Amino acid sequence: AKARGKSCSQIFDKSMHAHVMAQLQLENDLRQAINDRAFQVYYQPIVALKNGQISGFEALVRWPHAERGMISPAEFIPLAEETGLIIALGWWVLHESCRQLSSWKKRLPHTRDLIMSVNLSGVQFVQPNLIERVERILRETELSGSNLKLEITESVVMINGESAVSLLDQLKALEIKLAIDDFGTGYSSFGRLHRLPIHTLKIDRSFVSRMDDPQSSEGWGIVKTIVSLAHYLGLDIVAEGVENQEQLAQLKAMGCEYGQGYFFSRPVDAIAAEALLTHTPHW
Ligand code: C2E
Ligand code: CA
Ligand code: CA
Ligand code: CA
Repeated sequence: AKARGKSCSQIFDKSMHAHVMAQLQLENDLRQAINDRAFQVYYQPIVALKNGQISGFEALVRWPHAERGMISPAEFIPLAEETGLIIALGWWVLHESCRQLSSWKKRLPHTRDLIMSVNLSGVQFVQPNLIERVERILRETELSGSNLKLEITESVVMINGESAVSLLDQLKALEIKLAIDDFGTGYSSFGRLHRLPIHTLKIDRSFVSRMDDPQSSEGWGIVKTIVSLAHYLGLDIVAEGVENQEQLAQLKAMGCEYGQGYFFSRPVDAIAAEALLTHTPHW
């Protein structure tokens, strides 16, 4: 029994070792990719459900990796956050997506009110120079704050308490819009939510995907409740992960303002996003 225990722990050590090495390799590649600006920003339309028009895009980072193909952000964002590399990466994404929107606004008619939504990591959120960095990017890309929406998660806001409220107030003073991302997956205090200077709740995909599932009768009710809550608080709703016509019809009937998901479009590169702007499909 003793010998077996030992070999088990050796196997464990070995796989731990492999895991640590893989993480280190990934971290090195990530660092290198940031230096080389080897990332791409993809854009997923956010659609106004009342008329099927594109109200804006969410910027989503992509990492084309030499050996491994496209690496999903779900795989490298957590590592980027642990290592602090998210700071450089996050500012690059913000700059690049603002530059792109600014270019569309200059060249394409009817894009004046388009809004770029950009994810802001909790690590970036607590950087002491947050407001100055954001202001500088807006200046450099000649974009108005009213064209930008920053997405933060509930837990980032709740953890940072009053200092979060003050930061959000300062962003709001720049006319930047604020969205709570993945709403419903974290913990929110109703009282706190009520006092935050936010514009939008994004309902997490997990709730939207359960809406039309006959096995889960609560799915519809949860989404309906979140929509009512948002409207009570004077907030807009974006439903994430809209994948089919049934979900769309139910969301419309609930008075949900915006939808995002594969039903409309997957996240696409800037060229394909521009094509969606010039020839918007009849959604
Ligand atoms: P998120 O902010 O919740 O972004 C939405 C994710 O859902 C995206 O995954 C998008 O491709 C995916 N999605 C959209 N519609 C559908 C749908 O209809 N069905 C399904 N199954 N999925 C859908 P993605 O691009 O892989 O990004 C994953 C997460 O990585 C994001 O989740 C966000 O938390 C993080 N992320 C991505 N880009 C950035 C970034 O630039 N900065 C930071 N801090 N985080 C980022
Ligand atoms: Ca997001
Ligand atoms: Ca989200
Ligand atoms: Ca999500």
